[in-house]
Amino acid sequence: MKKHNFSAGPCILPQEVFEKASQAILNFNNLDLSLIEISHRSKDFVAVMEKAQALALELLGLEGKGYKALFLQGGASMQFLMTAYNLLENKAAYLNTGTWSSKALKEAKLFGEVVEVASSKDQNFNYIPKGYQIPSDADYFHCTSNNTIFGTQIKDFPATEVPMVCDMSSDIFSRELDFSKFSIIYAGAQKNMGPAGTTLVVLKEDILGKVTRSIPSMLDYKVHMDKESMFNTPPVFAVYTSMLTLEWLKNLGGISAIEKINQQKAETIYGEIDRNPLFTGFAQKEDRSHMNATFNLTEGANAALFNELWKEAGINGINGHRSVGGYRASMYNAMPLESVQVLVAVMQEFERKS
Ligand SMILES: *Cc1c(COP(=O)(O)O)cnc(C)c1O
Repeated sequence: MKKHNFSAGPCILPQEVFEKASQAILNFNNLDLSLIEISHRSKDFVAVMEKAQALALELLGLEGKGYKALFLQGGASMQFLMTAYNLLENKAAYLNTGTWSSKALKEAKLFGEVVEVASSKDQNFNYIPKGYQIPSDADYFHCTSNNTIFGTQIKDFPATEVPMVCDMSSDIFSRELDFSKFSIIYAGAQKNMGPAGTTLVVLKEDILGKVTRSIPSMLDYKVHMDKESMFNTPPVFAVYTSMLTLEWLKNLGGISAIEKINQQKAETIYGEIDRNPLFTGFAQKEDRSHMNATFNLTEGANAALFNELWKEAGINGINGHRSVGGYRASMYNAMPLESVQVLVAVMQEFERKS
């Protein structure tokens, strides 16, 4: 039996995606060749890249709105510096909501002045700051929509005239948003889309061309845009598998359909965290992430017993990140409600046996 996989990333993908991806490794499109042994310039692979890009824009509701979807390498971490390299001329504004935001901010400082508009570091990032000011002369405003490690999520994005850049690595395609509010959205594939190895970058074409520095080709969005993500060899397997996941999501009814399921999963786990006296939620309630639920055992609770029970139930990957401790249940798009119900049943069994 497959495990109930709550891993934070790399993480669960739909079973049908695993099956189709395995098949393509052996024999892709009945070519009697593997997906990973053919040219990335072959018509069969070019079709994959085009479809993956088109599906990303379609699912986000950004078709025909002046956006391009790119599949790049280097992870979301590469985007921390690429965004600044391509956009930061004078000053940038950053919202600091956790480890990933802090890393993005650090990279940006290499390129110009960075204003930290607000930070939740004072409470170990267990909330999302609100009511901050974004300087109107900033080149852009950068935020992280979902804080994978701390389990917080931005529910309301600030209204600002400044172009918004958002790291959506861990909640892209999970909820409906007006994605056209963002000039750049980026996301490492390995949390809601595919295997590690590619990063989706969705960018509005008119955001580029505003910095005076020269940019190395591999780090220049314009180069990748002009070459349709084929400036150099793309990570073919990661792109293909991401395309399969996007297809799966589209067939399911798109973001609006998955958002309802994600809502149910979140209500199920947080309902139990709040009800069960042996558990305490980490993030402030109004900022709780629908993707990563972080929680601790109440003091004095028997951790050894809880750990034994969830392992017995076939649960994987719920240990918290080292900077938070406790537990983290990641419930990305591909996770079925049933797995969350199994975890909740274990939490209840733990209460009975304690
Ligand atoms: C995982 C994660 C990253 C880092 O992604 P890499 O692909 O490992 O560079 C960045 N931001 C967020 C929000 C993440 O969840």
